[in-house]
Amino acid sequence: MPPGASRGGRLASMEATAVLGAVTAAAGSVKAVVEAINAARAKAKGNKAAMAALVEAHDLALSLQTSLFEAKEQAFALQEENRQLREENRQLQAKISECEARALDREDYELKKMRNNVAVVPKGETSPLYCPSCFEANELNILGNTGFTSRDNMPSHVCPVCQNYYELT
Ligand SMILES: [Zn+2]
Repeated sequence: MPPGASRGGRLASMEATAVLGAVTAAAGSVKAVVEAINAARAKAKGNKAAMAALVEAHDLALSLQTSLFEAKEQAFALQEENRQLREENRQLQAKISECEARALDREDYELKKMRNNVAVVPKGETSPLYCPSCFEANELNILGNTGFTSRDNMPSHVCPVCQNYYELT
């Protein structure tokens, strides 16, 4: 697993959660400010200047509340995006592991020149003969006999999977 990938996702997720927490806390503070302004307005009845200032403060607090609500929505969206990216990353890691598990250990095999072509054989052995073309694609497929030999001037082996013909005997 590339070490940065998943750590980066978790970090971004923590940041989104921290932002959400900070915005929620700020929204709580603004609510308290609005309540304080409302209490002050009740006491300021009859004082026009104070009332006007409190109305203005109230409007500002409301617009701050709107901004915080929008920020909260964005933090939520960011959190969801992070969740999806983490899930995608998890699926990709699983696919990579699957491919790695399927990959052949090439060190265990060698190419063997036979007549006009090469076959793949287990290292130090002469059989079975594997298809060199499929080996390139990390697959081990045992070549089948065609029933012909060099005497017939025909390919002696065929791959049952890729259908390539080989002159090996
Ligand atoms: Zn093949």
